[in-house]
Amino acid sequence: MELEERVNKSVVKLLPFCPDGIVHRAASPYLAGETLEEALQLAAALQRMRFMFTIDCLGEESDNVDQWRQVVKEYCTILEQLREEDPASNISIKLSHIGLGKEGLGKRVVLDHVRQVVMKAELRGKFVRFDMEDHERKDATIQIYQQLRKEGFMNLGIALQAYLRSSIEDVEDIAALEPKPNVRLCKGIYNPPERIAYKNPDDIRRNFALLLSQMLHAGFTVGIATHDEALIEHAKDLASDLRLPQESYEFQMLLGVRPNLAGQMVQNGYRLRLYLPYGNWATQAKPYCFRRFRENPAMVSHVLHNLLRKEVGGMEAYAEAVNGRYPSR
Ligand SMILES: Cc1cc2nc3c(=O)[nH]c(=O)nc-3n(C[C@H](O)[C@H](O)[C@H](O)COP(=O)(O)OP(=O)(O)OC[C@H]3O[C@@H](n4cnc5c(N)ncnc54)[C@H](O)[C@@H]3O)c2cc1C
Repeated sequence: MELEERVNKSVVKLLPFCPDGIVHRAASPYLAGETLEEALQLAAALQRMRFMFTIDCLGEESDNVDQWRQVVKEYCTILEQLREEDPASNISIKLSHIGLGKEGLGKRVVLDHVRQVVMKAELRGKFVRFDMEDHERKDATIQIYQQLRKEGFMNLGIALQAYLRSSIEDVEDIAALEPKPNVRLCKGIYNPPERIAYKNPDDIRRNFALLLSQMLHAGFTVGIATHDEALIEHAKDLASDLRLPQESYEFQMLLGVRPNLAGQMVQNGYRLRLYLPYGNWATQAKPYCFRRFRENPAMVSHVLHNLLRKEVGGMEAYAEAVNGRYPSR
């Protein structure tokens, strides 16, 4: 095991013993707040800086029926609060949060739950994206997406992961849909076994580029979700070579990650959407962060690297990158 990997794993083991205040402060640039109200305030400020945004209510993997219903209600409330006429705002949802178990367990119940959210979104003229979770939920997530598309819901998209060897076939599979799918392409954040996933960063990057090209040539709308500058430059060149209309692709980043890069891209006229997760620190955000770190200790390096090159920050960092000032309104 490499030294960096060992250090990351040790830090993750020590996290539960760190004072809560320190962990909270370290995590706060990546969180949009503890309540929907806080998240919407932050979203409005980012929007004034020309960022688009996706709201995500933190939490996942629950076997509590009442909790699933509560989450459905929360997403409906978010949709009510988003301005109807505003195409720059949408929501993202983890299907495990509303009942999807491993190997597709509970698929029927999830379909009922998510249909309520998608119907509400349709009424409000809003778009809903399903996050892609661990590989054991991947097929069910795609099937639920296809079922709802078959039912006529067009305000719907999914995410695909470039580390999965099967993503190429998944793209072929959904390419038959008309209108063409709207897919967020990301590298993938879970830790699937090598038999189904690329592990080498160069292989993942190569597959990302391949999938991106496959989807754009097939007429998909693509959310290019990465902070990897090499891939971002590649995507810009590809979009320019293909003379893609602006609305057929956008860049997407996580709140707090590489704000300088995000701001520069907006300033250069690219459409960029920030992913804004919110949730109560003790019951939603902290367990979520710890789980992510345990699943993917490499995130420790990301956070430390960003701190070292001062590429982490809240609103001020975005404002500075976009126009050198923080909007007061
Ligand atoms: C908008 C958005 C939505 C996503 N949705 C999903 C999803 O549905 N399913 C899924 O499996 N994954 C999702 N991801 C996560 C994604 O799969 C990657 O794990 C993550 O983006 C890191 O990969 P990267 O392409 O940015 O490249 P990397 O090479 O991993 O990162 C490039 C640089 O970005 C910075 N960085 C990246 N991630 C972080 C982080 N978490 N914290 C701090 N710094 C970071 C670091 O500086 C790093 O050096 C999403 C990512 C984004 C941006």
